[in-house]
Amino acid sequence: MATKPLAPGAVIGILGGGQLGRMIALAAAPLGLKTHVYCPDPDSPAFEVATAHTVAAYEDEAALAAFRDKVDVVTYEFENVPAATAKAVSAKTPLFPDARALETTQDRLTEKTFLRKLGLPVPDFAAVDDRDGLAAALAAIGRPAVLKTRRFGYDGKGQILIREGLAVDQALAAMGGQPAILEAFVPFRAECSVIAARGRSGEFRAYDVVENRHENHILRSSHVPAAIRRETASAAFEIAKKIADALNYVGVLGVELFVVDGPAGERVLVNEIAPRVHNSGHWTIEGAATSQFEQHVRAIAGWPLGSTKARGEVTMTNLLGAEANRWREALAENGASLHLYGKGDPKPGRKMGHVTRVKTAG
Ligand code: AMP
Repeated sequence: MATKPLAPGAVIGILGGGQLGRMIALAAAPLGLKTHVYCPDPDSPAFEVATAHTVAAYEDEAALAAFRDKVDVVTYEFENVPAATAKAVSAKTPLFPDARALETTQDRLTEKTFLRKLGLPVPDFAAVDDRDGLAAALAAIGRPAVLKTRRFGYDGKGQILIREGLAVDQALAAMGGQPAILEAFVPFRAECSVIAARGRSGEFRAYDVVENRHENHILRSSHVPAAIRRETASAAFEIAKKIADALNYVGVLGVELFVVDGPAGERVLVNEIAPRVHNSGHWTIEGAATSQFEQHVRAIAGWPLGSTKARGEVTMTNLLGAEANRWREALAENGASLHLYGKGDPKPGRKMGHVTRVKTAG
């Protein structure tokens, strides 16, 4: 399979048409690269900024084959790309990050097992397939603990906190019969993430560690630099590099971390890996020398990676649901950069856009 670097004018195929696909397409254009977005939703926000698009199901083999033949490389903006879709596409066209990155990260149990085998710090966890499994896992891990579906969970969906007193059956019911994982509850002081990129030749670059605030499990804001010790930041970078190297990863990845205060000082535990550009990296569009979206395009194109240097202190705030109606306020504010994703229905909690504020030194 050809793995030559892309030439300007080449076409990047993107599976998924949400805001992440939209921002990848927007970053590809100034580099002289075209984009073709594939998504089943005819109202996909990415369609309006891409060179071409296909509306078809991820299971539509004929549409996938036609898409794959029109593009030079394929990437994706969400980790739940079905394995068969990844296989169909990568049979003829390079897929970055590859099918192994997808497989490892789309199942929480596979992901945590991979991390533990790498010797990386993760909360205690155990597989839960049924009632007896949950009872055994709770006996081993204790309460409080968090029960999560192994697949398809995002923004806190498909998870439940098991405190003292919560009946095992009630917790299991929340999983809707799906295979699950039980994790020890982590009494974290902060949540952080590392956004990093690995190029086709193994070149690795990470942005400053980001501190993230969530509300109702949805990312509310991201701030750089994170209020953590230098040694903790170094440990976080090492974790991201180990993961990227072990997966022979190509592209941008996000590694979500818990920062915990313990007797031995501050330390981090890995929560999860996102094999894609990440909401907590949106600040890089105005706040870093190279945005995470451009960096992803460079990496999958086989091009040199760009500088990850931050331009100052940066805060990115998501516009959720009806908050996006207040877009004029952001426009009126000096130094605030407004991004709206072109989505129709501002359902509560839906990511409609974001605002970035950069405070440059001096
Ligand atoms: P996740 O979908 O795994 O990223 O979880 C969403 C959010 O739930 C995280 O950002 C945390 O705020 C919280 N959470 C997830 N797992 C744990 C855990 N093991 N301990 C404490 N909080 C957690």
